[in-house]
Amino acid sequence: MSTPVIQVKDLKTYFQTPKGVAKAVDGVSFEIPKGGTFALVGESGCGKSVTALSLIQLVPEPAGYIAGGEILLNGRDIAGLTEREKRAIRGNKISMIFQEPMTSLNPVFTIGDQIMETIRLHQRKTSAEARTLAMEMFGKVGLPNPESLINEYPHRLSGGMRQRVMIAIALSCKPDLLIADEPTTALDVTIQDQIIELIREVKESTGTAILLITHNLALVYRNAGTVGVMYAGKIVELTATKNLFRNPMHPYTVKLLRSIPGGEKRGKALDTISGTVPPATSYPAGCHFSGRCPREMEGCASVYPELTERAAGHTVACHLHDPEFMAGGNSKPLRHEPDALPPLTAPYAEREVLLDVRALKTHYPVRKGLFKKITGFVKAVDGIDLTVRKGATLALVGESGCGKTTAGKSIIQLIRPTAGEILFKGSDLARMDERTIKPFRSLIQIIFQDPYSSLNPRLMIKDTIEEGIKVLKPGLGKAERERKITEVLDRVGLTPDMMYRYPHEFSGGQRQRIGIARALAVDPEFIVCDEAVSALDVSVQAQILNLLKSIQRDFGLSFLFITHDLSVVEYIADEVAVMYDGKIVERNSTVEIFSNPVHDYTKKLLAAIPKIDEELVKLWKLPGK
Ligand code: SF4
Repeated sequence: MSTPVIQVKDLKTYFQTPKGVAKAVDGVSFEIPKGGTFALVGESGCGKSVTALSLIQLVPEPAGYIAGGEILLNGRDIAGLTEREKRAIRGNKISMIFQEPMTSLNPVFTIGDQIMETIRLHQRKTSAEARTLAMEMFGKVGLPNPESLINEYPHRLSGGMRQRVMIAIALSCKPDLLIADEPTTALDVTIQDQIIELIREVKESTGTAILLITHNLALVYRNAGTVGVMYAGKIVELTATKNLFRNPMHPYTVKLLRSIPGGEKRGKALDTISGTVPPATSYPAGCHFSGRCPREMEGCASVYPELTERAAGHTVACHLHDPEFMAGGNSKPLRHEPDALPPLTAPYAEREVLLDVRALKTHYPVRKGLFKKITGFVKAVDGIDLTVRKGATLALVGESGCGKTTAGKSIIQLIRPTAGEILFKGSDLARMDERTIKPFRSLIQIIFQDPYSSLNPRLMIKDTIEEGIKVLKPGLGKAERERKITEVLDRVGLTPDMMYRYPHEFSGGQRQRIGIARALAVDPEFIVCDEAVSALDVSVQAQILNLLKSIQRDFGLSFLFITHDLSVVEYIADEVAVMYDGKIVERNSTVEIFSNPVHDYTKKLLAAIPKIDEELVKLWKLPGK
């Protein structure tokens, strides 16, 4: 058997922090053969990215350091190399592509300069040779017109094109190992599909080994040969991808898999994982998942479960699979969550129309020249019709730049539309001035993708929520406002004392809960959710989707759900409108859209979603009786 490209043995990467030593990676082992794909999955903060940085020798020093273990590249230990030796490996033998290419492309150099520099540095080519090779690489990754593109700056390219440039740079030196850290998370589903296909082609033609880091489990299912599930610095389950999806053995893996939204779970709550990943400075002495595990036993928090082979080629770190532990006195159950998931919503039925959008247009003038003369119009929204029913969810889907966010903002009058009618409970919002629209403002709210950027960092949560109540519900006194804030925080799963904290003291999921609480505080009837769960881990996303479903049921709310994530749509929406280039190309019930799409663009969008076979979903049961 040939030597694996990369062998990681008991890797430990620690950070010195004011709170003590943070054990971000705490004894991780795996290997990737030539041409193989190994995926690392798990929630944010589990150590996946630090593992990747350790491999490429980019752990931020001096706080971060490799505290133990070996990293063998083609059999040679690279953990203790000098800076000069590390530089020779980085970008040459090991390359990395990141989630957001803009942060790793230098904005002041052309993309041609950036790829040619890498080629010259590692391959000792002349400028002319580097230029020829650069254009060849751009062609290979499907970038159009390499000759003219080579002189472009990163900001002039779309997200998908920038990601292709990053891949071209990463592959230009034919690395032995390519690390892809959330390579498609920021991209539309169709572009995502092309990028994954591209990585697959490269792997097959060059034998490059791939380390894929992602929270998209369907992507892993379709692309990886082996998977390591990482939790709190450790790999807790490691096996061939088909084994993991057919027979997940660790309770954490089962919970992660069951939090994936999808059509087969419509009308049911998604499974969620209570609590958060423990800080790397204070893991429990025993199983790191104790405290959150639905099957925790008395000895779990104090006795560490070693990663052990429990079935052929299937290793898992959980006492439930250890006959010796289960026969001893430590195996008394502490917690036992039921396996079945409760139904959450009543079946969708015809309901009265709350919002009726007719022939809505939002055009922006294009101005040119010294006198800023109007030379044309960008038709961001170009004559769309939509209907949102009471207590129901309409999903507006499409790729970036199709006009869906502009449509959402135009409907709630954050942007004034150019033409059309927006009939909300029969009144046309588009014809109202600031004074007449005021009573409607509290009824119509919006939740954004990144609540952090929409929360004032200098205001306590109480002040942020109260600000909205004061403006939109001026009749409420101080005591009533405070009661309302306590009520909505409680409703979204936060405690009243949290109102005295600032936004930076919360996690991403908690901040999204605050965004929801702020919207709920003014008693809305209609909420636009603009990519509201797109930036969240799948486990946190499941909690927020459950929360949105339950507040919809309890308050009879209607949602316009703007997203590019079609598996979320299949789970949450009653109806779907597909938008392309400013127009709605198809509208129908969710079931019909997913089972019988008519428009070619809808078919293309649906075909690009990575999917997990439905019969596997039924197999995801928690271990233990
Ligand atoms: Fe950890 Fe115990 Fe849960 Fe297994 S059952 S994952 S050992 S807490």
